[in-house]
Amino acid sequence: MIFRDFLEDEFPLGDGTAETRATVVCPYCGEANEIGLDPGSGARQEYVEDCQVCCQPWRVRVQYLPDGTADVSVEEA
Ligand SMILES: [Zn+2]
Repeated sequence: MIFRDFLEDEFPLGDGTAETRATVVCPYCGEANEIGLDPGSGARQEYVEDCQVCCQPWRVRVQYLPDGTADVSVEEA
């Protein structure tokens, strides 16, 4: 996939331009949570993180765009 190859080659990992915070809405309790992101872990990430309000586990997907914007989504793990 060309777009993915571009991200892996050109993404400015950890140079300060990538977003390091994101606000997501918990799929369980509906509360907004601010979570920390780690640009150094790659342009595409998927991991499990617990809600800060109800402690249910989310599956977090992060995709960094070439300009450093993070596209973050969460769903029930
Ligand atoms: Zn929650």
